[in-house]
Amino acid sequence: MKYDVIVVGGGPAGLAAAVEANKNGAEKVLVVERDQELGGILNQCIHNGFGLHYFKEELTGPEYAGKFIDMLNETNIEVMLDTMVLDVDETEKCVHAMNKKNGYMKLEGKSIILNMGCRERTRGAIAIPGDRPAGVFTAGAAQRYVNIEGYMVGKRVLILGSGDIGLIMARRMSLEGAKVVGCVELCPYSNGLNRNIVQCLNDYDIPLYLSHTITDIQGDKRVEKVIVSKVDEKNQPIPGTEMEFDVDTVLLSVGLIPENELTRSAGITMDPATSGPVVYENMETSAEGIFASGNVVHVHDLVDFVTAESQKAGKSAAEYVKNGETKDQTCIDIKNGDGVNGIVPQKVRPSNVDKKIEVMFRARNVFTDVAIKVKSNGKELASFKRAHMAPGEMEKIAIPKAFLDKVENGEITVSVEKVGA
Ligand SMILES: Cc1cc2nc3c(=O)[nH]c(=O)nc-3n(C[C@H](O)[C@H](O)[C@H](O)COP(=O)(O)OP(=O)(O)OC[C@H]3O[C@@H](n4cnc5c(N)ncnc54)[C@H](O)[C@@H]3O)c2cc1C
Repeated sequence: MKYDVIVVGGGPAGLAAAVEANKNGAEKVLVVERDQELGGILNQCIHNGFGLHYFKEELTGPEYAGKFIDMLNETNIEVMLDTMVLDVDETEKCVHAMNKKNGYMKLEGKSIILNMGCRERTRGAIAIPGDRPAGVFTAGAAQRYVNIEGYMVGKRVLILGSGDIGLIMARRMSLEGAKVVGCVELCPYSNGLNRNIVQCLNDYDIPLYLSHTITDIQGDKRVEKVIVSKVDEKNQPIPGTEMEFDVDTVLLSVGLIPENELTRSAGITMDPATSGPVVYENMETSAEGIFASGNVVHVHDLVDFVTAESQKAGKSAAEYVKNGETKDQTCIDIKNGDGVNGIVPQKVRPSNVDKKIEVMFRARNVFTDVAIKVKSNGKELASFKRAHMAPGEMEKIAIPKAFLDKVENGEITVSVEKVGA
């Protein structure tokens, strides 16, 4: 059987994409999920703070996912759980997958949406010196142990990295009775949302050590001691600044990597700035009829934005099934300028834009009283004032379609400039 749309991954991105594709006329939609249930990473995020933008209420992760699973259950969308996608074939538009019941399967689709999410960077990825005892976990793995499997991972905890998962785990571990002695961050600013710094560290008197890193982990069987040093502006440890922490557990919150093995092996063009596929205005990748959205494209801070982006991907996939390839492929490249990183979408076909195009990115540093400038060939097309910008918070601007007509050389650049500069 040929599906209209095959969705790879049943997290919040895959759920929203599938429901929207179906709502927009795709009749045969299949969601393939390797886990035993739908919901993705949200299933282990039992804290609240989800859905404020989309549902205008504060939900936990499982509640947010549950609302989309309910929507999906009201449709005829098919779901294959416990099924691993092994390969995506760009030319044949098919998905090679496997599960215990059916064995190997070749699933054909008119369109495919990639929604595989992210995975965490590990100790190996950042090469922390020291012994190799038990007690070093990624924050997400610890979150799964504590919130889903029911295991407490330690009693005295130090957290490396101030990304949102680390901050949330600082609070969770405190609530579960552990002593969190600190959160150590290499950068001179936090990489998490400001609300998480306040609610997860400040409210629990957990110190945040900015411009610090772990320089040694000591322990035979289990972590016994961690040495933390201050770093200079080149991130090099400063001798004489060492602090000792007697802890049995280290949680790492040192970044997420979009899970793009399938995307790369399909030959889809990747963006080194996002570690995700290059996408057009409608979330189509460089492979015609293959779309992508959610954390596999770029690491999001809020799931509400994952939902909005994935609805766009789902709608676009349904339109592709109905109308085929975008007729006018004339394209403008959107480039990262000074102070800007990880622009999505990287390409825009003006013929596909209705009134405006929404562009998301991260600031490269903490900025105050700045303007986001959109320029083409050195000429300013638009300017958006911001009182404060930080790498931990995703930025969003909307460029009106009329401005795209003024673009020269097929390229626009987005940068951050000091107001009045
Ligand atoms: C620990 C943590 C805390 C967070 N806290 C908040 C918060 O408080 N508020 C908020 O708004 N956002 C929060 N977020 C962000 C939000 O949860 C994510 O942005 C969102 O879950 C991303 O959705 P996704 O569908 O892209 O990825 P995921 O949720 O990771 O889903 C991807 C799915 O794809 C499946 N998959 C991957 N590869 C394959 C394959 N080969 N075959 C089949 N299936 C596959 C996976 O099993 C998974 O179910 C948090 C994220 C994390 C990690």
